[in-house]
Amino acid sequence: MSDAMRHTDTVQTPLVDAFGRVHDYLRISLTERCNLRCTYCMPPEGVVLSPKERIMRGYEIVDIAKIFTELGIKKIRLTGGEPLVRKNLERILRGLAALPVTLSLTTNGVLLDRYLELLKELGIRYLNISLDHLHRERFYKTTLRDQFERVMRNIAHVEADPFFRVKINVVLIKGVNDDEIVDFVRWTEDRDIDVRFIEFMPFAGNGWDGSKVVGYYQVLERVLEAFGRDRVEVLDKEAHATATNFKIKGFRGRFGIIATVTKPFCGDCNRLRLTANGHIRNCLFAREEIDILTPYRKGLDIRPFIHMAVQAKHAQWGGWDKERFYTQSAQHNRSMILIGG
Ligand code: SAM
Ligand code: SF4
Repeated sequence: MSDAMRHTDTVQTPLVDAFGRVHDYLRISLTERCNLRCTYCMPPEGVVLSPKERIMRGYEIVDIAKIFTELGIKKIRLTGGEPLVRKNLERILRGLAALPVTLSLTTNGVLLDRYLELLKELGIRYLNISLDHLHRERFYKTTLRDQFERVMRNIAHVEADPFFRVKINVVLIKGVNDDEIVDFVRWTEDRDIDVRFIEFMPFAGNGWDGSKVVGYYQVLERVLEAFGRDRVEVLDKEAHATATNFKIKGFRGRFGIIATVTKPFCGDCNRLRLTANGHIRNCLFAREEIDILTPYRKGLDIRPFIHMAVQAKHAQWGGWDKERFYTQSAQHNRSMILIGG
């Protein structure tokens, strides 16, 4: 570590990387475990979980998150694995809700009914819920669990409650659910929700190859064909937004496309990730991680380590060029379930 990094004035400064990108958004993975087995996320043979003692404890998550807020983090999204299967979740949520951040959650929705009152009490209104199919059998084929009805019930519940702001994440895979694009867009006709189509991304053990990606223009083409060019409206893009958003004229909800593969938005990235075992990943496709849990447990100041992680961030796709991104990045990455999407 350089002397500059040791200097306390430096470590108090905001998290600006070598490309001038200010990082004010942290995604924290609460667990490596999940109650679904989505084939694009969890390899069929499963994953090797970190030893229990290497997983951040509840109070460590809250304390580390507090340090991030002192460095300018304003938004924290909780993810996993499935964040709602985390033990002592209530205590963690209460601790995080007391920090000066907007707190949000990405979940598969299975256990949402258990936490709705708590989420409301703590003011956690931004929910991203994953749903890749509108049919029970297809849902089962992708998630390997028979939870479609419960998820749909929970979605209907939060969607009907004006407190919650709901986004539905749909990972598109060619030949698996690209024929459901139009049905998902129709779903926004009388629902005030956002459906976001996410391009399938390469991670260890998820069988990715470029031909399975349903790209940005392919999604748009299907929608234009079904609804007509005149009815598809492009919406203004918010700063740092990952999705390009659209609306069908006259529909209540919106749909968006997150085109990480075919139209990367890295130039505007403001995110960092903290894995459940306490490593910072400065990019989903990063090859290196920085362990901050070990120095934290030794009582060291972790701010210089956080700055190092930010400084090491590459301009795009964790430093992979296009050819190697397509051919090699998956083998060098962790599985998504271990990263925290
Ligand atoms: N279990 C929660 C859920 O499914 O929403 C949170 C964790 S999950 C890893 C976070 C997000 O990553 C989900 O929306 C999921 O669909 C997405 N995801 C997982 N694997 C992906 C992949 N290979 N490509 C694109 N998105 C992926
Ligand atoms: Fe679990 Fe979410 Fe991964 Fe599906 S995408 S296996 S729900 S962590």
